[in-house]
Amino acid sequence: MTLLDRTIVRLLPAVPKPVVQRLSSRYIAGSTLEDALRVVRRLNGEGKPATIAVLGEEITRESEARSIAQAYRDVIVALERDGLDSNVSVKPTALGLDLSYALCRENLESVLREAAKSHNFVRIDMEDSSTTSDTLRLYRELREGGFDNVGVVLQAYLRRSLDDVRWLADLEPNVRLCKGIYIEPPSIAFTDADAVRANYVRCLDALVDAGAYVGIATHDEWLIGEALARVQRLEPSRYEFQMLLGVRERRASELVAAGHRLRVYVPFGEHWYQYSLRRLQENPAMAGTIARATVGRVLGRS
Ligand SMILES: Cc1cc2nc3c(=O)[nH]c(=O)nc-3n(C[C@H](O)[C@H](O)[C@H](O)COP(=O)(O)OP(=O)(O)OC[C@H]3O[C@@H](n4cnc5c(N)ncnc54)[C@H](O)[C@@H]3O)c2cc1C
Repeated sequence: MTLLDRTIVRLLPAVPKPVVQRLSSRYIAGSTLEDALRVVRRLNGEGKPATIAVLGEEITRESEARSIAQAYRDVIVALERDGLDSNVSVKPTALGLDLSYALCRENLESVLREAAKSHNFVRIDMEDSSTTSDTLRLYRELREGGFDNVGVVLQAYLRRSLDDVRWLADLEPNVRLCKGIYIEPPSIAFTDADAVRANYVRCLDALVDAGAYVGIATHDEWLIGEALARVQRLEPSRYEFQMLLGVRERRASELVAAGHRLRVYVPFGEHWYQYSLRRLQENPAMAGTIARATVGRVLGRS
């Protein structure tokens, strides 16, 4: 993105919510569980497993965290009932991490127990750097406590991630590797795109060496190429590609046709706004779209 594009994209929070909702509809299955199940059914028909996320983060009340945990248990029951191929992805803050570590762990355990009944799996998403240590600690404690149907996420933009791979190595962890989406200071994060890519490749190699199962979560063609060169010598049971709903769907289908497992992240729910902002901010075509949508509105055409 050019500097001008980046500046326009930073104005996104000032764009009226209905415009944001319209622009981001491709990234979100809908507001109800039925919407998510419909999208997962379609993806499964294309040979793509999914991971469902209930939108909701940084909740402020214990009751909200408990109801999100319940919503996840409902998702897991519905997936089993409908015979769909999808696991779930949870955000620790949605399960109450900002309120208390113990509450988050209790909620997460309830979701893991429900998932275990149908041999399903729970991925703990990674949020901003204020949550990284607690999230990794949660993962370690759950694994050491006997849960093996759980995975975590590492972000290549964080300088600490290579050390985190080493710290997790004894668990033969299940890790989704992504670039990272939150805004972090240069003291702890690489900010240059090439440095993030280089660290992604370093972390990927370290995860493979550690015997991890790797979810290669990226739409970046250069990184997909680097990953393809590496997975050639891996058993198919050691990795999968992962992409977001509404992003590079044709490329996803090509990877499936070439015999790779590719999982699609399918978010749904009422709390669509924060997730939508993050997706729009990284869409390279968004600056022009926002400019047109906003100017169109000002001129009364939208
Ligand atoms: C399955 C999955 C789970 C994730 N989970 C987490 C998580 O737990 N924590 C976290 O911090 N981050 C997560 N992310 C987000 C990730 O960190 C990146 O922000 C995001 O994937 C964009 O990085 P990229 O590697 O695709 O490269 P980019 O360079 O951003 O994108 C490469 C290309 O993909 C296309 N593209 C990318 N995004 C969009 C978009 N929104 N709209 C249209 N085109 C687009 C464009 O063509 C772009 O040039 C996840 C990503 C995926 C795929």
